[in-house]
Amino acid sequence: MHCPFCNHEETKVIDSRLAGEGQQIRRRRECLECGERFTTFETAELVMPRIIKSDASREPFDEQKLRNSLLKALEKRPVASEGLDAAVAHICHKLRALGEREVPARMIGEMAMEELHSLDEVAYVRFASVYRSFQDVEAFREEIERMRARVRDTEGQLPLWTGGDKKK
Ligand SMILES: [Zn+2]
Repeated sequence: MHCPFCNHEETKVIDSRLAGEGQQIRRRRECLECGERFTTFETAELVMPRIIKSDASREPFDEQKLRNSLLKALEKRPVASEGLDAAVAHICHKLRALGEREVPARMIGEMAMEELHSLDEVAYVRFASVYRSFQDVEAFREEIERMRARVRDTEGQLPLWTGGDKKK
């Protein structure tokens, strides 16, 4: 990086060590031109991306809002709170891992559907029906068919509707 004193392009690292309980690297640098020394801190950027809504407006990611929409789909379904917590945690982790500054809202919708699909089929269909705002009954029927096919693929011989912990 450029020297903050003389703006020279080349500086060399003269010391490098962990700081802040290992979450940061602190580097001592020296300018090759003016000889001034300065310190830089390097941290992993793990901020949540902002959400791009369908009207192209941006808003901060809202974990509570995500939780509420999942909760609504899971209303009166036999899914433990731990299941909901895990689903929210998975989605947050995926979003951070993307390393993007902004993501489209539909990506979060898709992630939510994926989580619900492994938690509870009824909740999944409820969420999908609202989220995808189906054009007509036919599209809804097709979605249910797709879901059944996927369940057959992924669950194999396992009985459905047990309400038990299937995965994750
Ligand atoms: Zn300099």
